[in-house]
Amino acid sequence: MGSKKEEVRRKHIRLHMESTLTARDKVGVQDFVLLDAYTSESAFLDNLRKRFSQNLIYTYIGTLLVSVNPYQELGIYTLSQMELYEKVNFFELPPHLYAIADNAYRMMCSELNNHLILISGESGAGKTEASKKILQYFAMICPMTDSLQIARDRLLLSNPVLEAFGNAKTCRNDNSSRFGKYMDIQFDFQGIPVGGHIISYLIEKSRVVYHNQGERNFHIFYQLLEGGEEELLAYLGLERDPRLYKYLSQGHCAKESSINDKNDWKTISNAFSAIDFTERDLENLFGIIASVLHLGNICFGVNHQGCATIPVTHEIKWIAKLLGVPPSVLLEALTHRKIETQTEEVLCPLTLELSVFARDAMAKAVYGRTFTWLVNKINSSIVNKEFTKKTVIGLLDIYGFEVFDKNGFEQFCINYCNEKLQQLLIESTLKAEQAEYEMEGIEWEPIHYFNNKIICDLVEERHKGIISILDEECIRPGPATDLSFLEKLEEKVGKHAHFRTRRLAGPKGRKRIGLMEFQLFHYAGVVTYCTKGFLEKNNDILYRHLKEVLCTSKNSILKECFLVAELQNRRRSPTVGTQFKNSLNSLLEILISKEPSYIRCIKPNERKEPSRFDDFLVRHQIKYLGLMEHLRVRRAGFAYRRKYEHFLHRYKSLCPDTWPHWQGPPAEGVERLIKYIGYKSEDYKLGRTKIFIRFPRALFATEEAFEFRK
Ligand code: ADP
Ligand code: MG
Repeated sequence: MGSKKEEVRRKHIRLHMESTLTARDKVGVQDFVLLDAYTSESAFLDNLRKRFSQNLIYTYIGTLLVSVNPYQELGIYTLSQMELYEKVNFFELPPHLYAIADNAYRMMCSELNNHLILISGESGAGKTEASKKILQYFAMICPMTDSLQIARDRLLLSNPVLEAFGNAKTCRNDNSSRFGKYMDIQFDFQGIPVGGHIISYLIEKSRVVYHNQGERNFHIFYQLLEGGEEELLAYLGLERDPRLYKYLSQGHCAKESSINDKNDWKTISNAFSAIDFTERDLENLFGIIASVLHLGNICFGVNHQGCATIPVTHEIKWIAKLLGVPPSVLLEALTHRKIETQTEEVLCPLTLELSVFARDAMAKAVYGRTFTWLVNKINSSIVNKEFTKKTVIGLLDIYGFEVFDKNGFEQFCINYCNEKLQQLLIESTLKAEQAEYEMEGIEWEPIHYFNNKIICDLVEERHKGIISILDEECIRPGPATDLSFLEKLEEKVGKHAHFRTRRLAGPKGRKRIGLMEFQLFHYAGVVTYCTKGFLEKNNDILYRHLKEVLCTSKNSILKECFLVAELQNRRRSPTVGTQFKNSLNSLLEILISKEPSYIRCIKPNERKEPSRFDDFLVRHQIKYLGLMEHLRVRRAGFAYRRKYEHFLHRYKSLCPDTWPHWQGPPAEGVERLIKYIGYKSEDYKLGRTKIFIRFPRALFATEEAFEFRK
């Protein structure tokens, strides 16, 4: 080990020692497992706050990393920091993302198995930044050959492109990811990164047509307008000012000082060429983006029969041109529905409201499918087909538990997803603990914990779960409403221990229309969902007539997105809820087959400000991230375990028999050592290859003695 590295390491050990003893009050402990009052949420919060005030944003719970968003550059992601963490044992340096990444990488290389780094937390907590930093770490420390540099660069460059199309400014985060992302980084047998693969989840399509005050649409729209070359905008029929577009200006912050759309445009333009997008691809892609903007600006009118009309304005002409469909056909499809009778097809004019609905549905569908196309296209550029013998490290950057004042269908899906991930965490942690005890020949002590499978079942069980009940309401003939859905819920799962409906009578005897809410008792707490919009969002209808038009598009991307086969298939496509359920279950299969590491991100305040730690907000997240539960599971067994060699190497100077060299087997050396320094028999157990220490205080004492010796 280089002397500088060794010096830093020693300094850390000294600091760590201080943190465990005298200065502990000031900087807290670097591992929650070492907290004395470990069951108290307040002690947990105190420790996190203390560390945060010293700019120590990372803390472990065993091998899980808790990260608090600093909202400032801390200089902890430099090249020298990366080098510091490379090939160093977990425990010997301050907690860091790099330690997690390095550990996963080393394990993968030595054991040739697949790993997974699971990052969660609420919006703005730092998930995406963390995943980017991990990717950079691998790009930096992994061995590399010239021929594979391209693969590495593409992997890194795919990020800004995906963010342009999938991220947006929200009230919580100026660069909020509006989709879940799972990415595999593929390594060959020498540990060289050779490619990658991305899966996206639940892109928030509704943002294309609507966003709240203070928010924006997806970045790409603004980047194109601000940064796009004159000729490109002319080709697309676009003006430069985003405020001229209805889909871009609802939030009244189309121009946002904290975001540099012009620069970002340059970044993605370069990225596009690096990841194999042709001129033609880009023409088609931006043709679609532009046509969405034109769609938003369509003017509607009403004729004397009360039906929607759309004059042939330049918007219609541009959309028709860019999508390669005849304007008259497009107009008809936006203002009429085709109703099929047994003998013929009848055109039925739409009301203004339905016509606007059809237009928005078209914009959402076009954008949503284009996003999927983009992910596939990126995949075909980063996937490495030549290497068959490879292992992967998966990175999951996915929305954390969401609890707002009003929670709808989106929160329902997101929280269901978190419920599933929590199950994975608990089961894998417990399973790993159990497996390790067994392997080491240590008596297994069962740990009691809440198994949230019961809640997952309540949501997803076939025929009985909430998603099935919702689907039934969406499919059944006759008028189904968000209220009738609620009634069905009451009837079918009303008695479930984790479910409750909340209804209030509406005014003046209008029976039972007022509050339309149900509550789920999630592992993390109770969340109230309003059923308004559940049916519509789950159905996600795009009128067949519009689909037919899109299928005839000459735009080659749309052609791939809207296949004629879909029209011929008369079976209903699965609902949004069911699709999400299925993709989540396949995700879980991917995750479960890998060795997991966890990063839990916490947002310290709502103002995106550095050095501000809002106790109330953080406490809330500690709860929703299930951190206390995790700590309890971790502490129930043995707080610490170390290989005999490592333990001996570190502490051998404490015992004359083992210092300076111990000749015999390490296990015996450790036994001699701990007898000498006076471990009590209830404090530890000796496994086949490791010593297990039950209480952290035993470790503190050893650390103290160790430092004293030096
Ligand atoms: P999430 O993906 O969890 O919604 P992001 O990763 O996008 O959140 O982080 C939101 C913002 O917080 C970032 O744009 C950045 O300004 C800041 N941030 C997050 N993590 C860090 C970090 N480790 N260091 C400095 N700033 C950070
Ligand atoms: Mg994000």
